[in-house]
Parts: sequence; structure tokens; C-alpha cells
Amino acid sequence: MNNSSTSISSSDGVVGETEAGEERRLFGIDAAPGIAIGPAYLYAKVSFDVQRRVLTAEELQNEPSRFEEAVRRSERDLNKIIDVTRDKLGEDSAVIFEAQLLMLRDDALYSSVLTYITEHEVNAGYAVHKVMSKHRKVMEASDTEYLRERATDLQDIQDRIVRHLRRGQILSAIDPETIVVAESLTAADMILFSRKGILGCATDFGGPTSHVSIMARALGLPAVVSMHSVTEKVETGDMLILDGISGELIVNPVDETIKRYRTRKERYARLLQEEKQLVPLAAETIDGHRVGLEANLELREEIPLLKEYGAEGIGLFRTEILLLMEGRLAISEDEQFTIYKKVVENTAPGPTTFRVLDLGGDKLLPMAHREHNPFLGWRGIRVLLDKPDILVPQLRAILRASLFGPTRILLPMITSLSEIESFGEIFEGVKNKLKTEGTAFDSSIPIGAMVEVPSVALMADQFAEVVDFFSIGTNDLTQYTLAVDRGNDLVAKLYEDLHPAILQMIKRTVEAAERADIPVSLCGELATNLRAVPVLIGLGVQTLSASPVYLPAIKRVIRAMTLAEGKELADQALTSGSAVEIRQMLDQWLDEHAIGVSFFLNRDESST
Ligand code: PEP
Ligand code: MG
Repeated sequence: MNNSSTSISSSDGVVGETEAGEERRLFGIDAAPGIAIGPAYLYAKVSFDVQRRVLTAEELQNEPSRFEEAVRRSERDLNKIIDVTRDKLGEDSAVIFEAQLLMLRDDALYSSVLTYITEHEVNAGYAVHKVMSKHRKVMEASDTEYLRERATDLQDIQDRIVRHLRRGQILSAIDPETIVVAESLTAADMILFSRKGILGCATDFGGPTSHVSIMARALGLPAVVSMHSVTEKVETGDMLILDGISGELIVNPVDETIKRYRTRKERYARLLQEEKQLVPLAAETIDGHRVGLEANLELREEIPLLKEYGAEGIGLFRTEILLLMEGRLAISEDEQFTIYKKVVENTAPGPTTFRVLDLGGDKLLPMAHREHNPFLGWRGIRVLLDKPDILVPQLRAILRASLFGPTRILLPMITSLSEIESFGEIFEGVKNKLKTEGTAFDSSIPIGAMVEVPSVALMADQFAEVVDFFSIGTNDLTQYTLAVDRGNDLVAKLYEDLHPAILQMIKRTVEAAERADIPVSLCGELATNLRAVPVLIGLGVQTLSASPVYLPAIKRVIRAMTLAEGKELADQALTSGSAVEIRQMLDQWLDEHAIGVSFFLNRDESST
């Protein structure tokens, strides 16, 4: 990722375009490494969903039930939203959604859509668009304010139904072996597309630590984000080269370029293979200081990667991704238990750190309550403490799984000590209930806090008294400390996770952990920024947790440094005035030590 942030590229967030002959080069932020060569698939959300398509006789037969299914799912969403709104904001606010629910099931609307489908032999998305837009226009033109306001609700319903219709539609329409080009994608889109076998993706929006980028890395799909207007410059079928290491997209490359990139792709694959020779070796500095290397996991499918890339445990299991994949707000306790047990068994004797659901932010579920500023809103522990019906089954499932190997629980988006206290009360209740039922579990399971909001880093001494471990989440710590939205491409250049202020926060946290004698790890994407590794070790971070594929390269850096060097770099960085200065100093150190990771940092001139 360009900018200061993570592992790859040092091209300082250059976003733009150059032209040579027929081929065009577009630049963005390298979000997930790898190289893909193939045709483009332009994923234009709106037009795709409501585009008119004449159906075959067979399709026409299924279309009414597809529509019914989308309405049913929308109904389920709305019921959830009504529940949550009633809980949080009271009955008055819930009334809006109750009205939407009634409109959704309005007989006249419903049957008009069905009639439109059969009479015009078209897709449900188009029928919904035509019928609802007509009704909406009537409402918008009304003299009554009440009716004019309801027009927005109708738009909401239309969007909701179309979104559900889209889910199934995308899968049948998208071509495998293509590079998806889109304005923006969600983590859920990424999962859907990867199942279809796409080669990679390029987007107008998004930042290096937005969850779509994290998912692309987890899925092993090259991605370039923050390209600003890639959707205007690429057509479906254009030949593309996507370089997720340098953050480039080449449109309609000439043969010579394709040849060069095939070589680069092979070289990257070879390098990854070579890196694997480091897997059996210890993550230890030259002077014998051991560092823990653990994995960040999002998907069950990644479990085999732990052994493949030499992870000693799971430092962060983002459990909320399970829900995003399912597209529902709750997975039953038993379903969760089955998954968690498998993960714990496979990771043992290493530990598994389950982060309880970090819902909200950019990990919005389709049924989530809409907020103007979700990253500063109802997110992580705030949701869980308000909704014990979501938290309790998850805690029960984790506790039951804890019998099968070392397990830890990590709390997301902690800001205040009172949250730990409230969590503790719920947790005690859950443990007591399990005991009464005679269900066995590990009663000494450690509870940790994410250090991802400045208040926790600033009060680290007090927090260290009430939790068993810290995990520093630099992705959020950076956005909350520097006031830079991690997913907003307009400010991506300001997202500097090597900013001296972030390093100060890390230092403060580590020192508090040392004083209280509790472990401290770092699981933000900063751990994958190879130039940052010596400083993090020097600051005293004991364990780094990252996507498995990055672990060997991180280990290479650790094995090439001494702890004393790390400390010296950390001291210098802490007194630096800017991230740019810190980055230059660290790059110089890497150059002097010829560690052989320049390709991964996109600093390798001979690489194309
Ligand atoms: C973080 O904020 O650094 C983190 C690891 O959590 P997430 O990226 O899921 O917000
Ligand atoms: Mg976070």
C-alpha cells in the first residue's frame, strides 16, 4: 500500500494516468499484492441491477419467485432494523421503518411488479425500477408534505429489493477469470466475487486498510484501490494488467508489456515460494530476541495457511466476517461452536484469539441501522453491550470451543474502562450459566482489549490492570488519532500509520503492558509494512499478527536485525517530526542491510 502504510510500494499515493501508444497506465493504491492479467469486467452497480433484460421462457418462469425471495429478505432486514431502532431510539423512530414494511407488502405495488415482469417478459430489477419510480414520481409531485417525504421511503425499499435481487444475479452474470473494475466494493462483494473465480479488482474508492482491501489480501486476490475514475476509463472486455504490488493498472497493454508482466508475475510467485524456506526458522533477531508471529484470519478457508506460512497461532480472528459471508446478523451458537472448535483444534498448540463481533464501521450488514458517521458510531463493543442476544451466544460458543485448545477473547472498539466492566458482568453470567448446565470450558480464558482508540493508549496503565493482554489495532488507531477515514481515498495520503503520534501511542501501550506484565501484540496492517518491522520490535511489541502470506517476509526482516538496532531506530523515529522522515530513515536502513525485501516494497527498479 502506498503512502506510509503497509508493505508494498513507496510511490507516495500517486494516483493518475500515463499514456504510451495504445496502452494506458492508471495509478492507485496497492491494496493487495499479486499480478493479474486478463479481461475487465466493469461492475457498474446501479445500471447493472436495473438494466432491462428480456428473459428466456425458462428465466421468466423463475423471475416471480426471485422477486418474492428478494421481498422476503427485505422484509427480514426491515424487521431487524425496526427491532434495533426501537431498542436504541424508541418507538417514534421505528415508525418510519414500520411504514416501509407496510409499503413493501402493499398489494397494489407487489402485483404491479409481477404483472410488469410477465407482460414485458423482463427481469425483476427492471420491473421494480419502472413500477416504483412511477409511484415515487407521483408522490414527489404531491401537494402534501407527508406524501413527498414517503417518496424517499419508497426509494429505500426499491434499493433494498434490488440489492437482494443483485446477490443472485451477480453470480450468474459475472465472468470468472476477469478483473473486476468497480466504483467501490464491500467486503461481502469480495467474498461473492472470489467464489466466482475472479482474478483481482480495481476500484475508484477505498483505502489500504478498508476492509475490502483486507479481504482481498485474505483471499489472495491482487487489488488496487483509490483509482478515482477507473470505471470511466475501462470497458468490459478491455485487456488489463493489474499490479497489486506497484498499484498500477495497465489498460490494453501492448504485447511487449504483457510479456514483461508475465515475467514479473512468475518472479513474484518464485519469490513467494523462496520465502517459504523461512517457514521452519525461528522469528529471532541476530542477538537472540524472540518475536511472536501470528496470523490474522478472516475465513475458515485460510486455516491451512497457518502451517504453510509458519504462524504460531491466530492473533486476530475477525469473527464478524462470518456474518458478512452469510449476510445475516446472527449465526446460532451451535453453528459458531462448530466453526470455532475446528479453528481452535487446527491452531493448537498455538493460541486462537477470537475477536468478538466488530460490527459497524465499514463492515455494515445489509440490515444494520443507518448512521451518518458509522466509524464514530455504533460499532464493536458498543453494539455487543447493547445487544446481549448477539454477544451471549458468541461467548458461549467460544467458551465451549476453548476446551479444544488455547483460546483468547479480544474486545473490539474499546474506549472506556466501564465497557470492560460491563463486558465482565455479562461474561461472568455466561460462565455461571454454562457451569450450572454442566458444560465444560476453560475457566481461565484470557480477555484482551484492542488498543485502537487513542483513549485506551493514553490510559494504557489503567486498562492493563483490568485485561489480560493488549492487541494494538493500528488501522483504527491511525484513523482515530489522525482524524483520517481509513476508507476515504481523498485523504488516503494523510493516512500515515508510521506517523510519530502513532509510534508514541504504541510505545505508551507497550510500556504499560510491561509494567503490568501482560502480553502485547500488534495486529494492524502496520505489521505487514516491512520497513516498520524493526521499529515495532524496537518499541517492544512482542508479537506481530498479520495475514499469513506476509509472515515469511516479516521474519526475514526480524532475522536480519538486532534488538539494539531496533531500539535505536525506534528512538530516532519517536523524535522525528513526520512520517515521511521516518519512512526515509527506515528505507535507508533496509538498503544498508540488503535484506532482499525490496520487491515486496516495490522499490525494486529491475522488477518489471
Ligand atoms: C485494526 O483496527 O487495526 C484492526 C486490526 O481491526 P480491523 O482492521 O478489523 O478494524
Ligand atoms: Mg479495528
